[in-house]
Amino acid sequence: MAEIQTIEVVMKRSKTGWARKLIFFPMAAFGFLGGALLCLTIVGIIPGFFIMAGSVGLVMAGLNYRQVKCPNCKKKNYVVSAVEDFKCSRCGNPTIIEWKKPRP
Ligand SMILES: [Zn+2]
Repeated sequence: MAEIQTIEVVMKRSKTGWARKLIFFPMAAFGFLGGALLCLTIVGIIPGFFIMAGSVGLVMAGLNYRQVKCPNCKKKNYVVSAVEDFKCSRCGNPTIIEWKKPRP
């Protein structure tokens, strides 16, 4: 049985932690609603779809998604900051993440 690999990832420093969430989430919610309304007008389906997709991206950024590399197959995976482990989306191998505090 293969041993579970561990990688070290430096945590992102969040200067604007709560402030960013406070701005990001209403913006994303507003964008998502705006995009949904555009989709309802038929002619606005395409821009509306992109606005909605952008809003989802904003929420993901607000949740502090991090890109980590699978040590096994080098595939880039996205994980939420501070999760203990992730499963690679390509090879399915579990990897433990050790979060390191950034040096000031
Ligand atoms: Zn992998």
